[in-house]
Amino acid sequence: MLRGLLTTPSKSACGLLDIESLDRAEIEAILERARYFQPAPGETYRRLETLRGKMIVNLFFEASTRTRVSFEIAERRLGADTVSIAAQTSSVSKGESLVDTLNTLVAMRPDAIVMRHSASGAPHFLARHLQIPIINAGDGTHEHPTQALLDARTILDRGKSLEGLRVAIIGDIAHSRVARSNVHLLSRFGADIVLCGPPSLVPRELENLAPGVRLAYDMKEALRNADVIMMLRVQLERQHEAPMSAGEYFRFYGLRLEHLALAKSDVIVMHPGPINRGRELSSDVADSQRSVILNQVENGVAVRMAVLERILP
Ligand code: ASP
Repeated sequence: MLRGLLTTPSKSACGLLDIESLDRAEIEAILERARYFQPAPGETYRRLETLRGKMIVNLFFEASTRTRVSFEIAERRLGADTVSIAAQTSSVSKGESLVDTLNTLVAMRPDAIVMRHSASGAPHFLARHLQIPIINAGDGTHEHPTQALLDARTILDRGKSLEGLRVAIIGDIAHSRVARSNVHLLSRFGADIVLCGPPSLVPRELENLAPGVRLAYDMKEALRNADVIMMLRVQLERQHEAPMSAGEYFRFYGLRLEHLALAKSDVIVMHPGPINRGRELSSDVADSQRSVILNQVENGVAVRMAVLERILP
């Protein structure tokens, strides 16, 4: 059972709700275990029996490709049975409330629910009411814990240490659950984090998110000496004001090859996906040797296997 994860009062149904409530030892244990699940070069993930007989429901109220498929593969590689539901095709579209939907699913006795929802805090709210482990696969603008874990695994795989790491996170920070989870994780290890983007997408209060965070509105300043550049998508679906055009955004905050010279010579470029070429980054950066975007996707499976194994002993 994971310490620091939310426990319901009646039964000990622990899930993974966020990084903020995980301590450093828990994070390290997950990252280390994920290493064990990583396939050898040229091989695929092993098929294990660890979760044989367990039933996991993946409930996605928001669009997802990487996260949903990655959870499903992780569950199946561990031998679990899975059911995946996209909210557009469920009774949610007939007006059923979130609590009623979840109660209905819980009545069918799955062993855990993986959920993504557009409301920040939705999984935390449900975890208080349901006696079943809930794994947060992204809640609104709040957190996306498994993304930060797989990002950390990817950074470590490149031989970098999280202690003292200089990380530039660039883009739509205001709406990014990926940024928040990464900031909480990286700051646990004493990383030096610069959040950068247009002022409307990087509000001042973000500086107080965690120790070691500073803000920059000039991309060149943010990139200087970076070990890691984490680019984020502009989340148009969460913006209420007229956004900058793709071209204008790219001019000021799009990552181009020439920018990489400002960072450390072994800098890596990350992006949680989906990427928008020509808005957040140029194609030659996305496809360059410095890009670890597909390594992140690959590590998603190993990290989620490690999380599932800990939550469903
Ligand atoms: N896939 C990530 C998320 O769900 C990032 C993004 O959508 O831009 O938060």
